[in-house]
Amino acid sequence: MKAVIAAPPVTDFYFTPSRASALGAAAVERFLADCGFDTVFFNFPVSVKKSRELPLPAELGHLKNHLIQGESGPLSFFSSYKRFGPEYTDCASAVLEQNPDMILISSFAWAYAEDAVRLAAAIKKVNTRIPVAVGGAGPSVNPEYFRMSGVFDFVLPGEAEVVLPEFIEETFGLTPCRLQPDPGFYLRETGKSEKKGLRYYSAVLTRGCPKNCRFCSNHLVHGRKFRKCDTGDIAGELDRIPDDYDIHLNFEDDNLLFDRDYFFEVIDIVEHKFPGAVFTAENGLDYTFLDENSVSMLTKSGFKSFNFSMASADQYLLKNERRISDTEKLGSIIRRAKQEGASSVTYFICGLEGDTESTAISSLAHLHRLPTLTGISLFYPVPGLPGYSTDRMNSFSPVLSAGSSAWPWSGSLTTTQMITAFRIARFSNLLKSIEGLVSPFRSNGAAPQWTEITERISAEKKLFTFSGGKIIEVPEQDPALLSSFLSRIL
Ligand code: SF4
Repeated sequence: MKAVIAAPPVTDFYFTPSRASALGAAAVERFLADCGFDTVFFNFPVSVKKSRELPLPAELGHLKNHLIQGESGPLSFFSSYKRFGPEYTDCASAVLEQNPDMILISSFAWAYAEDAVRLAAAIKKVNTRIPVAVGGAGPSVNPEYFRMSGVFDFVLPGEAEVVLPEFIEETFGLTPCRLQPDPGFYLRETGKSEKKGLRYYSAVLTRGCPKNCRFCSNHLVHGRKFRKCDTGDIAGELDRIPDDYDIHLNFEDDNLLFDRDYFFEVIDIVEHKFPGAVFTAENGLDYTFLDENSVSMLTKSGFKSFNFSMASADQYLLKNERRISDTEKLGSIIRRAKQEGASSVTYFICGLEGDTESTAISSLAHLHRLPTLTGISLFYPVPGLPGYSTDRMNSFSPVLSAGSSAWPWSGSLTTTQMITAFRIARFSNLLKSIEGLVSPFRSNGAAPQWTEITERISAEKKLFTFSGGKIIEVPEQDPALLSSFLSRIL
């Protein structure tokens, strides 16, 4: 029996290597191999070097006036819509060439549901005989959408470890399939740098989070019970990594620090095998579980950079979102990271219910005063979050559930206000970079103009950016938001 597992191409304004780690697909691969399948995995988003520019889809028409052709540099928003991966028909040919008995498509985010449907449709156009199943976070939050598309024989919502055993037994009569430990440890190489002597890996150690942040969809896929994988499994997987290079290990967990002792134990295990390992946690560390000492320990262990999640600096919004916070503690942790020589990015969410110009500026101004880069996430829901029932969400394109779509979901802030906040975050980062408060930005040739552009923004109270090597005024912006920010920081 042969199974092809495929991560479909992704259409968006951007894509990063860590988003292509396909750890859910890794769980499927391992399970099927344990069941005796020959498996082939296609990670289409990273299978071609160059992304293909696409026309802006109709559902993103609200962004038309915000996209500046040729925009680049440290103050830019997104400029062009792209497909990361080959044409869907080429993907279908590659899959079918394998002559599989079953095809499993991994849809890792609701926003990319249409990419999974397009790939399945391209496969079905050529071959209707081979069963096509879809699983992952997309079908987990809205299985009906995938069923209604008519291109899947099976829709598998939920965690792979939970849904696959029954599916395989029922469909192929293969009993008994070995059940994975719950949860399994998955690791995937995402790159290699000969120059740095590093191999890059992504891994996930835990599932589920007992916290209850209103904006978070983690529980819809993984539940609210915190589960962690066996440390023996981790050591075993690490033994399979070639030891010619050191490793950079990015943890993709949503709440890595919920069991802090466990996490430090894992770090010890990795360091034992790779003493020069570098660590990151790109989904963000819950700083409420950290103190200054643990930040020092982490930096000594190989965390050279941190991603922290603040959600908001506004207490009312935080309470409304059931988000526990301690902004003073966050400040001390960020400062300690800086003292230890580590950089940090601290994220807040813009566009939550009840957000206002004033709350958005509070978060931006709060982070501006700290030695950290400001990360801004534009709020988007998935079906099943409070206020976003499947019925309601079915009247919108899934594409709008990407942060880059800047869709005014909650109605609290407009698209223009959210994108202006996005640009202000970048302006704040550039100012601090010039002042030496955060690591300097890498120059893309325009560095001599960086001081000039920040001075113009401050003096004229208008946002400017770079396009074709020139400074231009941002055509669509909310000047009141920028004035308010400037009055808070200057
Ligand atoms: S702490 Fe993180 S993972 Fe847990 S509910 Fe909040 S946002 Fe989600």
